[in-house]
Amino acid sequence: MNGTVDNGYALVNPAGHHALPETGLGFCIFNNVAVAVRHAQAELGIERIAIVDWDVHHGNGAQAIFGEDPSVLTVSLHQDRCFPPNSGLVTDRGTGAGHGYNINIPMPVGTRDGGYQYAAQTVIGPALEAFAPELVLVASGFDPNAMDPLARQLVTTRGFITLTETVMAAADRSAQGRLVLVQEGGYSPVYVPFCGLATIETLAGVHVLDDAILPVVGGMGGHDLEPHQKALVDLVAEHVTDVHHP
Ligand SMILES: [Zn+2]
Repeated sequence: MNGTVDNGYALVNPAGHHALPETGLGFCIFNNVAVAVRHAQAELGIERIAIVDWDVHHGNGAQAIFGEDPSVLTVSLHQDRCFPPNSGLVTDRGTGAGHGYNINIPMPVGTRDGGYQYAAQTVIGPALEAFAPELVLVASGFDPNAMDPLARQLVTTRGFITLTETVMAAADRSAQGRLVLVQEGGYSPVYVPFCGLATIETLAGVHVLDDAILPVVGGMGGHDLEPHQKALVDLVAEHVTDVHHP
């Protein structure tokens, strides 16, 4: 916030995005990102904050905590009803004054890079542009990765790089580049390190190491955007028109 660094990655554990005000849930004890939001609002003099949650599981904690609060835009990109069960529906859009400021993108099971990239470009980017946050926080889970045991999406480092570029561009537009990614889930000991490295390389503007798994998982079928994935994203994109600069 004081400009000492361009952006940041908080490599924290345990994860936080399932935690609710009254209880922990799903490996999470405290909702780290939500605490950061309220700290920034109370102590750092900013009001309008966006949370982008790309963990493969629904960001139910932020939805519950900020659902009535139009000062916090919450966008969750997740696998359709993976965890918590039956959570994260398209129709959950916030309540009261917060209506329209909670966006769920429940991607069909088996979505690969094309679907994730289309969601980033069609919903996440435009929603952030409309909201014009002063700070962008990301609940950065790597469990959409193609080898993860706790979900069934098939994203490679290409998908995570697009997501990272999307939030960086949004932060540059309205938040003077202020962007912090906060570690959430990710359970493949083989592929999470490559996904994390590609994400942090993108944040830092450097390239250190090639993704050694990409020649395998990147060459599998289905990475192109599928019609049923496009239909879901296009449906959610209609909700972006309800996001306004408060
Ligand atoms: Zn997760």
